[in-house]
Amino acid sequence: MIEELAELMASIELRGVTSQSVLRAMSRVDRSEFVLTAFAKHAYQDIPLPLQLSQTISQPTIVGLMTQALEIEKNHRVLEVGTGSGYQTMILSLLCRHVYSIERYQSLAEKAKRLLIGKHKLGNLTLMHGDGALGLAEAAPFDRVLITAAPEDVPPVLIEQLKDDGIMVLPIGVSPSEQFLMQIIKKPGRETVYNNLGGVRFVRLLEGVRNE
Ligand code: SAH
Repeated sequence: MIEELAELMASIELRGVTSQSVLRAMSRVDRSEFVLTAFAKHAYQDIPLPLQLSQTISQPTIVGLMTQALEIEKNHRVLEVGTGSGYQTMILSLLCRHVYSIERYQSLAEKAKRLLIGKHKLGNLTLMHGDGALGLAEAAPFDRVLITAAPEDVPPVLIEQLKDDGIMVLPIGVSPSEQFLMQIIKKPGRETVYNNLGGVRFVRLLEGVRNE
């Protein structure tokens, strides 16, 4: 592992990512491949960075905390809404059986496909250009659902596509000053459990697809 990546991993761990499997997966993914060339020198800093089309690659600690909160097991099938750069997608793919990831911007979806499937030859990924707010009925139900853009409230259709005892992790709230990372556990025959994991700042979950 290069020295800068080792330092980044240490900082992520100090900030609360303690799952060894998550740390191991993150240390296998070179974030500099996912950021814009202009920001490559900042790739190993624990900060969010701009992507094209005003989107953002999340802060590594937040990626780690979200992945950890999903409590992923090797046999799980995971739905990710908001592929973005594909950084988190690759981490998920190293931890589970299959990842379905949906991105509303065509160019981001294609770029992630070139990197993750073309270059890294990851065989357990389905990457799609589409509106992830609708979920993916044809592959549901999922063991885990991760949403990397913030809706105003939990989209009911995505809860429906989650298995019983399944976990969903997402930022909720469209006002940046009042946005929280939530872990939601779907309990069969009982009330859904909501755990607030703290304040975050994500781009909004928007409806519809964009052909740019
Ligand atoms: N984890 C990603 C974060 C990307 S930011 C990374 O680290 O790179 C969130 C992404 O969600 C953006 O790319 C945005 O275009 C996408 N998004 C927003 N609304 C969406 C929707 N309805 N369906 C699919 N993707 C959506």
